[in-house]
Amino acid sequence: MKTPLLDLEPIHKVIREDLRQAVLRVLDSNQFIGGPEIDNFEREIASYCGVKHAVGVSSGTDALLISLMALDVGPGAEVIVPAYTFFSTAGSVSRVGAKPIFCDIDPITFNIDVNKLENLISPKTRAIIPVHLFGQCARMNEIMAIAEKRGLYVIEDAAQAIGAKYKGNMAGVMGTTGCLSFFPSKNLGGIGDGGLVMTNDDTIYDLLVSLRQHGATRRYFHTIIGGNFRLDAIQAAALRIKLTRLDEWSKMRRQNAVYYKQSLKDLESNGFIKLPVESQDNFHVYNQFVIRAGKRDALQSYLSNNGVGSAIYYPLPLHLQECFKGAGLKRGDLPESEMAADETLAIPIFPGLTEEQMNLVVTLCRRFYEK
Ligand SMILES: *Cc1c(COP(=O)(O)O)cnc(C)c1O
Repeated sequence: MKTPLLDLEPIHKVIREDLRQAVLRVLDSNQFIGGPEIDNFEREIASYCGVKHAVGVSSGTDALLISLMALDVGPGAEVIVPAYTFFSTAGSVSRVGAKPIFCDIDPITFNIDVNKLENLISPKTRAIIPVHLFGQCARMNEIMAIAEKRGLYVIEDAAQAIGAKYKGNMAGVMGTTGCLSFFPSKNLGGIGDGGLVMTNDDTIYDLLVSLRQHGATRRYFHTIIGGNFRLDAIQAAALRIKLTRLDEWSKMRRQNAVYYKQSLKDLESNGFIKLPVESQDNFHVYNQFVIRAGKRDALQSYLSNNGVGSAIYYPLPLHLQECFKGAGLKRGDLPESEMAADETLAIPIFPGLTEEQMNLVVTLCRRFYEK
């Protein structure tokens, strides 16, 4: 691939020595679980996002899972999730024994459609999980207003959106809890798996800390049942280095987005593609740059044959997944989610992408549609 969908090398080469030092510091300390790297990272990320508490955990998926556990969402409960998102948004709901209720999306932002949300609330509903998909926040003011009126928790899935803002508020600090992922392809990516839960609530914080350590309040004394959901010290040490660069990298992603939007404008006016829209309440951090493309699959093959990587996020909406067929939904029930799955394509947007690489992407798209 001349231009892969994601290349971490351009950002890692700048901080390689710092990362090596950080990893070696942990190795030499012999403190691999808990300890100062975790405490400092949690403090630094809480300060970056403007939240009272941050709890490092083993992955973004576990951040969702442990949030649901802390809020005592379990069998008999329903949780509303968008149908068009990464699997774990809904998978975590099933894993605590609750039932995911799938909501359709807004076709412009790809986020949960707040106008369709209230109809899905039943006496069993306990929580809503809005996802800030591709790096742009869902309409949190409306979601929080509905949740407050109906007495529901809100768990923000901000796995793709660290540093994004909605009406000036950081992603992940507006809900009851907010979940981050440090999977390497996320905007703040670790050197392995990792995740984090944020909250302003002291009681929930205490529960999260206990749940990630098997529900122990003191070692070997268990008041509740948790699990091993800890973040590694090595990950925390590497993430601390990368957090200091995050704003710089978000800016580069946003600059790349501007370049694409300018260079692909005419393909949009000619009806071949639709470009992503940054809504006026949002500060978008472009974890992915996702277009709607006519003849999407043919475009993807054409790009790939010419050395450009791309990906389909996501090819099958969650209500049509085999494992959720118990929900009883069929094709046609959530049309916007289905259309998004059929039309979208993510093209390279990573920080460090060169103008030459972006130009290749643009030229190929142009040739594909204008030939
Ligand atoms: C990546 C992602 C997750 C899960 O994070 P992991 O760290 O991979 O477990 C959850 N939700 C969304 C929307 C994601 O993109």
